[in-house]
Amino acid sequence: AGPTIVAGEILVEIMATEQGLGFLEPLALMGPYPSGAPAIFIDQVAKLGGGAGIVACVGRDDFGTINLERLKRDGVDISAVSVSDRFPTGSAFVRYRPDGGRDFVYNIAESAAGQIRLTPEARRLADDAGHLHVMGSTLSVAGLKEIVAYAAKAVRGRGGSTSFDPNVRKELIDGADGALLSALVDDADLLLPSGDELLAAAGVNDEKEAVAALIARGVGEIVLKRGAAGSTRFGADGSRIDCAGFLVEEVDPTGAGDCFGATYLTCRRKGMEPAKALFYANAAGARNVTRRGPMEGLAGFDVLDDFIAGTARAT
Ligand code: ADP
Repeated sequence: AGPTIVAGEILVEIMATEQGLGFLEPLALMGPYPSGAPAIFIDQVAKLGGGAGIVACVGRDDFGTINLERLKRDGVDISAVSVSDRFPTGSAFVRYRPDGGRDFVYNIAESAAGQIRLTPEARRLADDAGHLHVMGSTLSVAGLKEIVAYAAKAVRGRGGSTSFDPNVRKELIDGADGALLSALVDDADLLLPSGDELLAAAGVNDEKEAVAALIARGVGEIVLKRGAAGSTRFGADGSRIDCAGFLVEEVDPTGAGDCFGATYLTCRRKGMEPAKALFYANAAGARNVTRRGPMEGLAGFDVLDDFIAGTARAT
């Protein structure tokens, strides 16, 4: 029991409305949209009716306000979000390339997100939590490692569970804390890699071998995200479930992985069987890419049931 918590960056996303390369000429832009991988994840947990809380820091500005209002509206506990008077809420400018790739201009390193600390409110949130979700990408944010280490211990000490998304950008981790990273993988009840992250996390070149190695290290279950192709769930008992992707028109891929992971986790925490949780997660990820803005396509069970009823799947 106890809510699911995350820690990490909250920011806004501003996107070019036309495809192209980079930002070298004046462009029509849309936004700001609430964003930040941890915010996307935890907002989806709340939309599905799971208890949810976030440790973060925003600036005292409109970019912070739209994020906090969204999280609060959807039911996320924001008591451990501090507000910086000195640093602004970060932003990411995105442009989609014709080949489906993305160009980003980030303004995060010197933003309020860099001021995240293990505050008394953060400790309180961690001390009451039932589940901690960690994203590898956030570990490069200053102060995050300390919060994650504290929260992992607190949650585990109360018999809670953890999940880990190994989207680690190694070049962004200062003095790479290898021990913390491997502990997060080994102790994960649920691992949520996408694409090659599964192989990278195991340090081998074959999917089957990687799964076996990670399960042997102590991982409880692995759910591999495969973009438009759907996903696969590997159980500790050697079982495998494949789930085909829903056929949708992708408008904006940002946030799909976090929406997917939050949905799988929350369904499992509600006691759903893996196959059903995987099905809902596929639906949630697919629906999210049909909306512009990383958090605009997040959906509760009612909306997901309608989406599932009205959408074909690849065979
Ligand atoms: P990440 O954002 O972490 O790279 P993916 O792109 O694999 O994750 O997306 C996560 C999940 O969302 C996929 O496993 C799939 O279920 C769903 N999804 C993502 N993109 C699409 C798409 N274009 N069509 C259908 N489903 C999608």
